[in-house]
Amino acid sequence: MRNDIEALARRVGDIEIKTEAYYRYAYSYDATGRRGTCLGVVFPLGLKDMASIIRESSRMEIPFFIRGAGTGFSGGAVPGGGGIVISTEKMRRIIDLDMEAGTVEVETGLVNRKLQDFLEPEGWFYPPDPASMNVSTIGGNIAENAGGPRAYKYGVTRVYLRSLTWITADGDVIESPVEGPAALLPGSEGTLGAVYSAVLSILPLPAAYMTTVVTTKTDEDAMKIASDLLSIGFCPSVMEFIDSKTMKCVSKYSRTEVFDNGGSYLFFEIDGSEDLVKAQQKILESFCRDRKLESVTAADDRERDLLWELRRSISPSLARKGITKVNEDIALPLGRLADAVTFIHRTASELGLDCYLFGHCGDGNLHVNIMTDRRRKEEMKRTDIFVEQLFSEVARMQGTLSGEHGIGITKIRYLDKIFSHAELDLQKKIKSVFDTQGLLNPGKYFSS
Ligand SMILES: Cc1cc2nc3c(=O)[nH]c(=O)nc-3n(C[C@H](O)[C@H](O)[C@H](O)COP(=O)(O)OP(=O)(O)OC[C@H]3O[C@@H](n4cnc5c(N)ncnc54)[C@H](O)[C@@H]3O)c2cc1C
Repeated sequence: MRNDIEALARRVGDIEIKTEAYYRYAYSYDATGRRGTCLGVVFPLGLKDMASIIRESSRMEIPFFIRGAGTGFSGGAVPGGGGIVISTEKMRRIIDLDMEAGTVEVETGLVNRKLQDFLEPEGWFYPPDPASMNVSTIGGNIAENAGGPRAYKYGVTRVYLRSLTWITADGDVIESPVEGPAALLPGSEGTLGAVYSAVLSILPLPAAYMTTVVTTKTDEDAMKIASDLLSIGFCPSVMEFIDSKTMKCVSKYSRTEVFDNGGSYLFFEIDGSEDLVKAQQKILESFCRDRKLESVTAADDRERDLLWELRRSISPSLARKGITKVNEDIALPLGRLADAVTFIHRTASELGLDCYLFGHCGDGNLHVNIMTDRRRKEEMKRTDIFVEQLFSEVARMQGTLSGEHGIGITKIRYLDKIFSHAELDLQKKIKSVFDTQGLLNPGKYFSS
C-alpha cells in the first residue's frame, strides 16, 4: 500500500500527496461522523493537476474519493478501500462573471457563501442556499444536487448549471453543457465523474424581502397551515418548518426567548419587487389575523439576519442534545407531511427515542433527527428499527428517502424500498459505463 502511494507520487511529479496520519485522519469523515481510511490526501491546484491525479490513479488501479468541505450528511465523501482523497479545497477561483449572460464560472472548491459574497455587491445572487452554505462547496452542492430554504421558489442546484468541466474516471477532460453524459453528474454523489469547474446561472437580487416567523399550536397544524396558505395564493420564496423541541434548543443555544413558547413554527420569506412583497405580506397578515396566529416580522435587515441566524443554528444547537445525530431527510408531497409527522412522533415515542423535526416544508423536505449516542448499543438498535419503519412508511406514502442529502453510504441498504430490481440494475449498469474499474468513490450508492 505504502509502495502504491510512493509510486503514485512519483508519477504525478510536483503534486504533493500528504500521507501524515493527521491528514489521513482529518480527511476521513464527513458530517455523519462516519469514519473511513485513506492512504493519502492530495490537493490539486487546477484542472491539469486534478486530471493528472485521476489518470495516474486509474492506471495504477488506486480508488479515489473527491472531497469538498465534508459537510455531507450521507457519507458520500468518506474514503475507504486503500484509496486516496482528492480535496478540491485549493481550487476556489471565481473564473469569470458575465453579467450580460447572467452567469458566473467557478472552480468547484469554492465555498457557496464566498460566491454569494462576491455576487451581492454586483447586484446578483446564486439561488441554491443549503443551510451549510457558509462551509459547503459548489462541487459538493453539484454532486448532491443540493437544495436549501430558497429551493421552494427557485429550485435546486441542477436548475442553475449551464456547463461543466469534468474529468472521467479514466482521467479524460470533458467540457460540455449539462446535456448528454454531463446531465447525469448533478446528484450523482461523486460516483460518475469529478467536476473541476462550472458555469452557473445567477439572478438579479430581489428589490425587497419580508421575513416572518409564525407560531402554530402543533406540528400537524403547521403543516396544514402551510398547505392552506399556498391554496389562497401565498407564494413565499422560503417556507421552513421547525418543531417545538428543535426551537427550544435553538432558543437556548442563541439565548433568544422570543420563540420559546412551546409552539411549532413556520419560517417564511417573501422576495421580489416592493409591490409584490407588500401584496404577499397582506395575504399572510390577514390569514394570521383570521386564524389568531402569533407572528413576528423582521423590521429591518438586522432583524432579518437575526432570524436567519436562528434558522442556521439549528444543527449546531442540536449537536448539544446528543453525541450521535441520526439525520434522515425524507421528502413527501406537502399534503402528506401532517400524517408523516404524526407517524414519526408516535413511532419515536413508542421506541423511547429523542426526536427533533425541521425542514424545507414548502418543497416537502422534512429532516428527522434522532439524538442518541453510538456507544449505547441497545438505543442504536431501537434507532435502526425507527429508521426502517420510517422509510417503509415514506415508501408507502410515495415519498423519497432523501430530499437533498443523498444516499451515500447511510441509505444504501434501504434503496430497494423505493427502487425496483430493474431500476437498481439499470443504475449499476450506468455506473459501470462511467467507471469501468469501479475506482471512483467506490462503496457508495451503487454498491447495493
Ligand atoms: C449543518 C448542515 C446543514 C445542511 N443543510 C443542507 C441543506 O439545506 N440542503 C442540502 O442540500 N444539504 C445540506 N447539508 C448537506 C451538505 O452540506 C450538502 O450535501 C453539500 O452539498 C455538501 O457539500 P460539501 O462541499 O461539504 O461536499 P462533501 O461532503 O465533501 O462531498 C459530498 C459528495 O460530493 C462529492 N463531491 C464533492 N466535490 C465534488 C466534485 N468537485 N466533483 C465530484 N464530486 C464531488 C463527494 O465525493 C461526496 O460524494 C447540510 C449539512 C450540514 C452539516
